[in-house]
Amino acid sequence: MRKEFAVIGLGRFGGSICKELVDQGVEVMAIDISEEKVGNFANIASHAVVADTTDEQVLRELGLRNFDHVIVAIGDDIQSSILTTLMLKEIGVGYITVKAQNDYHEKVLRKIGADQVVHPERDMGRRIAHKILSNNVLDYLELSDEHSIVELVAGDTLNGNTIIDLDVRARFGINIVAIKRGRDINVSPQATDPIQKGDILIVIGADSDINRFEKNLMDEK
Ligand code: ATP
Repeated sequence: MRKEFAVIGLGRFGGSICKELVDQGVEVMAIDISEEKVGNFANIASHAVVADTTDEQVLRELGLRNFDHVIVAIGDDIQSSILTTLMLKEIGVGYITVKAQNDYHEKVLRKIGADQVVHPERDMGRRIAHKILSNNVLDYLELSDEHSIVELVAGDTLNGNTIIDLDVRARFGINIVAIKRGRDINVSPQATDPIQKGDILIVIGADSDINRFEKNLMDEK
């Protein structure tokens, strides 16, 4: 069965989610209180509807209770975001993802039962900070307050070493889960394969362990 999605709030964030879902071939209902915003999505989404989603009757009329996943991307108007989420929860939507503006907003959203709370500006800020702090870090994905997945570029120090030589699990408590070389990505690297300078190592572990690995085995730039 095809899944049905709805995006409420067609600002930059909600709009980009809506476009990407459509590009991936799924049906999306796009909803916004602004006629102009909805007009921009008339030719993109399966249905584009002008509606104030803080009104429970409106949500029922739109049939949102039958949707598998509703994304609430209302930003500045925190009250509308919270009310909309609460109503969606009450009418029984299967899964609700909500964009939070700040930590208090996030707390309230979790209390009222949002299934997933995202914080795009904060998360992107953190990712960029990690890249700024180390030239070896190409990308960073936070898994929890203490664990992440990081992409690191191998330099001279690692060149020619195998995962066995490096003994990263025992020495640093981290795992090299994949190695990118040019356009190829090896998702189950053999422990005996030599690493080459310029390879991108995808590493998972505790932040402190990844930092130790980086300090010991990555080249200073
Ligand atoms: P972005 O950063 O993603 O551009 P933003 O964080 O600035 O967005 P807003 O522009 O405040 O977020 O809100 C996103 C959209 O939500 C707007 O297009 C706005 O019209 C819409 N919106 C606000 N309140 C409601 C509501 N009650 N019902 C439906 N849509 C709403």
